[in-house]
Parts: sequence; C-alpha cells; structure tokens
Amino acid sequence: MPVQPPPIAYTKPSITELEVEFATHATRTGWGADCYAYIARFEQGFAAHIGAAHAIATSSCTGAMQMGLAALGIGPGDEVILADTNWIATAAPIAHLGATPIFVDIRPDTWCIDPERAAAAVTPRTRAIVATHLYGNLCDMDALLALGDKHDIPVIEDAAEAIGAQYRGRAAGSMGRFSTFSFHGTKTLTTGEGGMFLTSDPELYARVGTLANHGRDPAQTRQFWADVIGYKFKMSNVQAAIGCAQLERIDDLTRRKREILTTYKGRLGHLAGVAMNPEPDHVVNGAWMPTVVFAPETGLTRERLQAAFAKVRIDARVFFWPLSEQPMFTPVPDNRVARDICARAINLPSYHDMTAEEIDRVCAVIEGLLA
Ligand SMILES: *Cc1c(COP(=O)(O)O)cnc(C)c1O
Repeated sequence: MPVQPPPIAYTKPSITELEVEFATHATRTGWGADCYAYIARFEQGFAAHIGAAHAIATSSCTGAMQMGLAALGIGPGDEVILADTNWIATAAPIAHLGATPIFVDIRPDTWCIDPERAAAAVTPRTRAIVATHLYGNLCDMDALLALGDKHDIPVIEDAAEAIGAQYRGRAAGSMGRFSTFSFHGTKTLTTGEGGMFLTSDPELYARVGTLANHGRDPAQTRQFWADVIGYKFKMSNVQAAIGCAQLERIDDLTRRKREILTTYKGRLGHLAGVAMNPEPDHVVNGAWMPTVVFAPETGLTRERLQAAFAKVRIDARVFFWPLSEQPMFTPVPDNRVARDICARAINLPSYHDMTAEEIDRVCAVIEGLLA
C-alpha cells in the first residue's frame, strides 16, 4: 500500500492555553451572581471591537438574525432581499418568520449581492435587504445603503464571514441597521457554537433584548411574567469565556487569516484563468475563506476539483450553491452569475495553524490541474 499523505482540514479553530484558562475559570467561578460575567464582557468587548453601540450574545448567528428580523416586525406577506449565493442560515430565519426571501444575483467580481439587481427587486412589500459579506469579501455598501435610504428600507449585514473585514475604514458589521456574527467552529473567532447581534439603534436593541429574554421586558417587575412571545437563543457563560480569550487574540486571528490568503494569492493569483478573493483599494478583505474561481476556458469543474483534492486527502469545499436551486424555494434561472460561478470554484483550506508545507500541497494540486 502506498503511504497516504496526512489529511488537511479546511478549517479548525485556533485554541491556546488562554482559551483553556478562561473556560476553566468560568467553569469554576461563573455561577450564581457571576453567571453572566463573561457574557457581559464578551458583548462589550466585541461591540467595541467592531464599533457598534450594543451587542447581544446568542447561541448562533442564525438565532441573532431571526431575532433582529422579528424585532423589525418582519412577518407574513413581507419580502426580504438577499443574494442567491448564501448559506441557508441567512434565508431560514426569513422563512421561519413567514416572510418571503427574494433571491437576487451576485456580482461577478465581489461574489456578493449585486446592488442593481437588489434595486430591481424592490417592491412595496420589501422590508429589508440583507448584505452578506461572502468569504470575507465586502458587499458594495455605498450602493446598498443608498438603496436602503431611497426606499426607507433597513440594510442588514450578515457579517458571519467578515470578522476582520473593513469597508472604507469601517468594520464589517458596523454599517447596517443591525448585523449578525457567527462563532461556529469554522469561523475566524469561535466559541464552538455561538453568535452575536450588534446594533447602534437603541430602540432595536431594546426590542431584541426583550425577545432574547423569553419576551420579558427588562422593566417588568413581576417574576416569571412574559410580555410577548420571545426566543431562547442564549450563549452560555463558558462559551462567552472562550470568546473573551479569542477576542484578546483577535488581531492575531485575523492577521493569520489574511496571511494565508496572501500566500495563496502570491502563488496562484497570477495564473491564467484564476480569480481569487478581491481586495479593491477601499476594502480590507477578512479572508475567512480563500476561494478560487476558475475561468470557463480552464475546463475545471466543481466535481473535478473536489475529486483532485479528495485524492490527496485535502478537504476543499464547494462554493455555495444558489439557494433558489434548493427544493424549498422557487428557481430563479435569471440569477446567472450565482448559478455559473459555483460550478467552477472551490474553497481552499485556511485554518490558522496551517503550515507552509500544507499550503504548498494545496497549491500544487491547483498547479497540477492547470498544467
Ligand atoms: C456561518 C454562517 C451563518 C450561520 O452561523 P451559525 O452561527 O451557524 O448560525 C450565517 N450566515 C453566514 C453567511 C454564515 O457563513
């Protein structure tokens, strides 16, 4: 039997003694009167890092999105515009609230929502536009915010993939009416599972605060008394302790992600028929997921790419399928860019502790396929 190369994971968290120390401390002390201590610290620290006034830690980004949309009053008969290229987690809360997700095409350069297509999709029923910053790339926020202003529709940022990303000097997640983040184990900063709702709108913060606490208004003096039907999407104090440790290391975590993308781009970015995560002058790419999109003339397909990586035990992942092609939704054949790009693209492994040799092995597969 030939010797198998060691496997290369596509992501995994960067965990040091600091996370272990914080989690241990929370486990020993974070009970009774201190049971929210790390949660409050994580919320304040994360909000300050992004540049938002208020934060609510949640069990997931999906939960944060659902509460934010619910607090905006979105429900049956309403439409929410989002990119067809998206993780299902961005669309599911819209559907759970009884509203209709309106899937529009992406731009071929940013792989994010096309503002012109979003503009064309606005109807009297449109209640929000979700800007998902895909793979650390940034949406065209100037155009989306102008569109929102024009129609008085809130723009929401799904910044789950955009920790460390900036647009004209502003952090991703600081520009929308509210934003959501994910601390799932695959994300740049992790708490295992977890998320965050951020906003600088005090009224929206108060509404989500009530929803997040089983619908109990903070001013309510009666015990065990709910004022509205709320949610239970809370983060635990032990998870928040891990988040606090990660937050102390946030600059290193994002720097390493960017370093890995830069290394890949240095080696592959100039090859004919290869496009990677863009970084125009006004943008700092968060580099969550280094991704290669191959030109049609290379003949490379999702299936060929997956097979080539699997053969050498490298876990490279497919580019998001258009949500509108999935069985719960109505197909939108006009979303040509979303349908086309995903058939000739691949996400490359990018966990923080990757070695130069591992990056080299990944690059060699692509060079081999293009040779
Ligand atoms: C990861 C992710 C989510 C979901 O995050 P969870 O914490 O798993 O709920 C939502 N949107 C996008 C764009 C994501 O990448």
